[in-house]
Amino acid sequence: MWAYLADINNWSFLRILLDFAIIAIFVYWILYFLRGTKSANVLFGVVVVFCLIVIVARVAKLDVLGYLLDRFWTILGTAVVVIFQPELRRVFAQAGSLFSRNVTNQAMIDEVVMAAVQMAESGTGALIVFERNIGLAGIVNTSVILDAKVNSLLLQTIFFKNSPLHDCAVIIRNDRIVAAHAVLPLMQEDLYNPVRRLGTRHRAAVGITEETDAVALAVSEETGTISIAHKGRIIRGVTSMELSAQLTHLLIQDAQPYRKLFSQAASSFSGTGSHPRPVQGDLFSETDDSEMKR
Ligand code: ATP
Ligand code: MG
Repeated sequence: MWAYLADINNWSFLRILLDFAIIAIFVYWILYFLRGTKSANVLFGVVVVFCLIVIVARVAKLDVLGYLLDRFWTILGTAVVVIFQPELRRVFAQAGSLFSRNVTNQAMIDEVVMAAVQMAESGTGALIVFERNIGLAGIVNTSVILDAKVNSLLLQTIFFKNSPLHDCAVIIRNDRIVAAHAVLPLMQEDLYNPVRRLGTRHRAAVGITEETDAVALAVSEETGTISIAHKGRIIRGVTSMELSAQLTHLLIQDAQPYRKLFSQAASSFSGTGSHPRPVQGDLFSETDDSEMKR
């Protein structure tokens, strides 16, 4: 047995296994982070169509097409990087965040939820963006820069209709309001999909989450409903319980995957463990656009 293993030639099978394992893990990792996004469907469609053309070209021995397709892989690789740049940025930012220190806490979330509920009841429009791993310095620097601990009354004061700061968005980094009056990128209007026909406040909420890994919260002035956006998708009409659970999930639990693993491991050994508030399902893990109708 040891003599067999000592012979380096016998390692070729393990090398092949390792080769495939690394590719499989890499592909799984990319798909895991892209899951539920529109880009994942587009990428899947492009790869399937491309593979079909390659198979037809090989079977029918279409030499010129085969020659062109061989060269096309490099172009496709570059195109994928350009087309999926926002998603790839999110993938690498999430990978880099595995050991980052995040000081978002439950008290901050409670203050925001309290403000959102009050503003929804009084019909005050609001847009709040939570920065995660991708920095929003570009937007913050062109806004009114603030540095204040998140507080429900302060948020309500900023968005109060007669306040000079009430327009556009507030940016929250960790547990501090770092900017107000922030102009966000707008989601492209989709005239053919009534579900995606939104006003500018809600398009701005989706827009910032398409380009970054931020989470956005919008309170509608017209309908008094609360919406939450993430990864380019928006869920409208969430309750205060759902809002709190989603913010806890996205800003505390999801932002600290290694702590989640450790705390789960600790609780399964000791029967205890410190968990933030339990989350009733991740509303953003669904794969279709149905949540837009809510
Ligand atoms: P509501 O349901 O509150 O009416 P809405 O989605 O219908 O919202 P509008 O009625 O167009 O959107 O809301 C206009 C407000 O949206 C503006 O007063 C401004 O505060 C905000 N807004 C518009 N564009 C942007 C932007 N690019 N970035 C941030 N906020 C924006
Ligand atoms: Mg409107």
